[in-house]
Amino acid sequence: MSDALDLHLGPEQRDLYARTRTLAAETLAPIAAAGTPGRVNRALVRGLAKGGLLDRLFSGDEVSAMGLCLIREALARDCTEAETAFALQGLGAYPILQAGPPALRDEWIGPVAAGTAVAAFALTEPEAGSDPAALSLSARPDGAGGYRLTGEKLWISNAPDADVYTVFARTATGDGARGARGLTAFAVPGDAPGLSGAPRDMLAPHAIGSLTFDGVWASDAQVLGQPGEGFRVAMHTLDLFRPSVGAFAIGMARTALDLATGYALERHTFGRPLAQHQAVGHRLADLRAQTEAARLLVHQAARAHDAGMPDPGLAAMAKLLATEVAQAAVDAAVQFHGAVALEHGHPLEHLYRDVRAPRIYEGASEIQREIIARAMFRAAAPAPA
Ligand SMILES: Cc1cc2nc3c(=O)[nH]c(=O)nc-3n(C[C@H](O)[C@H](O)[C@H](O)COP(=O)(O)OP(=O)(O)OC[C@H]3O[C@@H](n4cnc5c(N)ncnc54)[C@H](O)[C@@H]3O)c2cc1C
Repeated sequence: MSDALDLHLGPEQRDLYARTRTLAAETLAPIAAAGTPGRVNRALVRGLAKGGLLDRLFSGDEVSAMGLCLIREALARDCTEAETAFALQGLGAYPILQAGPPALRDEWIGPVAAGTAVAAFALTEPEAGSDPAALSLSARPDGAGGYRLTGEKLWISNAPDADVYTVFARTATGDGARGARGLTAFAVPGDAPGLSGAPRDMLAPHAIGSLTFDGVWASDAQVLGQPGEGFRVAMHTLDLFRPSVGAFAIGMARTALDLATGYALERHTFGRPLAQHQAVGHRLADLRAQTEAARLLVHQAARAHDAGMPDPGLAAMAKLLATEVAQAAVDAAVQFHGAVALEHGHPLEHLYRDVRAPRIYEGASEIQREIIARAMFRAAAPAPA
């Protein structure tokens, strides 16, 4: 597409995007192809580190949401496995970077940035998905300078292979035993005694599994932020990452539309290229316009975050629109290829699988609509007299 679409980006940002695309296509995609489906591909994580991308996440105290978006979109264009491996290192370790005591940061941030340790973010439970404030994994003070963690986590990306999990648990009892208050975040090593897990076979470009905590001990020094601040730590992390889920989706949408456009010029039906059937061209035109509009919204949400004005309603709009349009774009690209796109190993068959989950995780589309609607009503409500 025209360079005008990137007029709002500086030369360094354009260069980052171009270099990341080259790294993904030439170096990371072959490493991803050699991985074992459903298990963490450690060579891929090291490849992200060697390419300098993980350093970008962890070199300062704050992470640039815009940098995150550009890298995630660029990786998604050519290698969704590299994209998710990158994002999960960030999601899993950002709470440690942002809220961990110095010793914990020293222990984990270096190895995660070097790609020698794999991180994961463990919030969801069997009975707490869209409503994480309902989580029940308990952390009870054990009187010996720590806590005992007992319960289950489910649908955790990188489980059960991760080296460190950011775990959200309920430390409060009594009135605090329900709701967002009384949650605490911990960094728990993957080899902690009492922690076990199992992989799940999922429609996703990365490993995912369940975790069982059977009296896992975590010391006070493994607490991220203050006890009782776990919900804030989780939401602060998701606020940063939400626009970038949209960027992941946009990367997939752009690749799908490029594939569809190329194929429509080549493939003939009824004596002419598909591109000359107006129904095809107009559908692709609508999707291109919607994709680029959603991309600008993603970038606006990221820029607001980086300017110190994070806007949950804007971030929700960006994730909602980008993930929904990406699903439509990939579906149309499959449709205009016909049967060939559904053959195992076709790039669109790959994208068709990978584009689905982002409409569910980090807040399903319906939850994003809730956030947007609440922000609208709050803004429109009369000020108290
Ligand atoms: C590929 C993948 C990777 C994941 N990785 C992680 C991870 O690394 N860490 C982690 O903690 N979790 C992870 N998850 C879990 C994810 O965050 C949850 O699946 C998500 O929050 C939805 O929870 P649920 O699946 O329990 O659905 P539920 O909460 O049971 O909701 C089911 C559906 O009901 C609808 N719904 C729910 N509430 C409302 C409402 N208020 N209004 C209208 N509709 C509503 C939505 O359509 C929703 O999809 C992952 C999930 C997937 C699919």
